Amino acid sequence: MIKKIVIANRGEIALRILRTCKEMNIKTVSVYSTIDRELKHVLLSDESICIGPPRAENSYLNIPAIISAAEVTRSNAIHPGYGFLSENSNFSEQVEKSGFIFIGPNSKTIKMMGNKISAIKIMKKFGIPCLPNNISKINKNEKENLKIAEKIGYSLIIKSAHGGGGKAIKIVHSKKDLKKYIKIVKEESKRFFNNRTIYIEKYLDSAKHIEIQIISDGKGNAVFLGDRECTIQRNHQKILEEAPSSIEESEKVEIAELCKTVCVEIGYKGLGTFEFLYQDKKFFFIEMNTRIQVEHPVTEMITGIDLVKEQIKIASGKKLSFKQNSIRFFGHSIECRINAEKPNNFQPSPGKITRFHAPGGLGIRWDSHIYTNYSVPIFYDSLIGKLISFGENRKVAIARMQNALSELVIENIETNINLQMKILRNKNFKNGRISTNFLNSEFLEKINKIT
Ligand code: ADP
Repeated sequence: MIKKIVIANRGEIALRILRTCKEMNIKTVSVYSTIDRELKHVLLSDESICIGPPRAENSYLNIPAIISAAEVTRSNAIHPGYGFLSENSNFSEQVEKSGFIFIGPNSKTIKMMGNKISAIKIMKKFGIPCLPNNISKINKNEKENLKIAEKIGYSLIIKSAHGGGGKAIKIVHSKKDLKKYIKIVKEESKRFFNNRTIYIEKYLDSAKHIEIQIISDGKGNAVFLGDRECTIQRNHQKILEEAPSSIEESEKVEIAELCKTVCVEIGYKGLGTFEFLYQDKKFFFIEMNTRIQVEHPVTEMITGIDLVKEQIKIASGKKLSFKQNSIRFFGHSIECRINAEKPNNFQPSPGKITRFHAPGGLGIRWDSHIYTNYSVPIFYDSLIGKLISFGENRKVAIARMQNALSELVIENIETNINLQMKILRNKNFKNGRISTNFLNSEFLEKINKIT
């Protein structure tokens, strides 16, 4: 039984985890950096421990400090949230070796899926469609690289095998840029992910980003909790997500069954997201995430299932309490990520929020740690809240989101609220005529011209 959880994260997701723990009568321990003393979940947790100075490498990425926090508070489990150490197999291994429960899959699985090249190999083994020639390791031999690229065919995309958050990704349209971009991605990969392994795959120029949410108990049971559409992105990073996706129900069945099979066969334990690109009625696997996703609320809204609660139950060794045929999907949900950023250049906009007002009404959910007089620090991701709407169909979900965005007041720092409003008003968005290039090529260029 899990009795006390260390929440090894910050911001909205830490608060999100805390809320479920309280509901389940599980004690909570927050760990925080010196600049985060006033975070909402720190103030609300049963116990709190400072784990270091603001820089993430000295606090939220400080493995010994987090494990010590579990020791001294006699906690028996650690929830990693998303980002930070959530997909660090070394962390989960050390958590397990120290005698604590890691809320997520075992370290071997995290390692296997954390390397996109090995994840692709596994998916291929189970018949999951991947992009053409996509695991050709790039080496120092320029001629060889040109041959690999030619075989795949331009345009192609170069990515870090250990990438995340849209970093260390470059699109190559012709052979003249290949060498230059290989070098850049290798360097970025080393800088962001401490590993130089990169790979190339075919670039899809009008794809949708569709992901399949699976939950699996490691005891032979896996359930499909619906899909999500995360096509609206900027610089390969999601900014607005929806559930269900715009793909026909019948087209999802086969791919969802394959994903479930993978989970059952590899003894997968926990929440798993299979990310795909979808173009010309075909799915192509790009990566698997072994943790709770930022966009999990849209799945919760259309299924009524608390995903954090299910994660905790599975980590406690319980079997899945529901079967596939007991899952009912209802309505439509949209999530707008609210970032503290400057609208003209998307640079972070930290500072004190002097006035805050949350939106409300039927079908509106606001997942955020901010409050009046809270200061957004410069040190972390610029996500300060997630506005989630729900309605009986997409049209209603859009209308409620528009109302909610217009009610949301965050003063004295800059945010992307206006950008989200513009997206929701856009005709192509309303009609579902979108691809991952929607924002950059069509929309942002227009905004830039106006402003
Ligand atoms: P990360 O792990 O950094 O999020 P992903 O591999 O999940 O990287 O890709 C992030 C985004 O980059 C995708 O949602 C998509 O917009 C774009 N992308 C990745 N691979 C391709 C590809 N082969 N073709 C077109 N776009 C791609």
